[in-house]
Amino acid sequence: MDGGRRENQGCWRMKDCLFCKIIRKEIPARVQYEDEQVLAFHDINPQAPTHVLIIPKKHLPTLNDLGREDRDLAGHLILKATEIAKELGHADEGYRLVANCQEAAGQAVFHIHFHVLGGRRLSWPPG
Ligand code: AMP
Ligand code: ZN
Repeated sequence: MDGGRRENQGCWRMKDCLFCKIIRKEIPARVQYEDEQVLAFHDINPQAPTHVLIIPKKHLPTLNDLGREDRDLAGHLILKATEIAKELGHADEGYRLVANCQEAAGQAVFHIHFHVLGGRRLSWPPG
């Protein structure tokens, strides 16, 4: 049932994880928001005028690794993402909150992250 979880966790240890390094401030990032549970920072290769990534400080490789024990964390991530989108002025014009799960869906960094994209018209469906 959770074979994917174990596989990913085996490949992506916290020590090697790019986003864990950003959390530990070993790699610089333009931080938009931080608290004990989450970090939000600007994407290094923005796909829209606003492109912020919000991540849990807990290392979880993919959305598949969220468990019932992460309910509060998952809720906090989504609520914070909406607050950031509002703060950056996108509430009325609209924005997109998206998370890619696994390589075929476009996931390149195996530490859960939500993309907050705003500031331009976004097409649908995605590629
Ligand atoms: P995904 O393809 O959904 O895994 O998204 C990974 C995102 O991380 C991409 O949009 C990258 O541009 C972004 N990214 C990679 N390295 C960094 C970095 N050092 N700082 C900020 N964003 C990064
Ligand atoms: Zn990590």
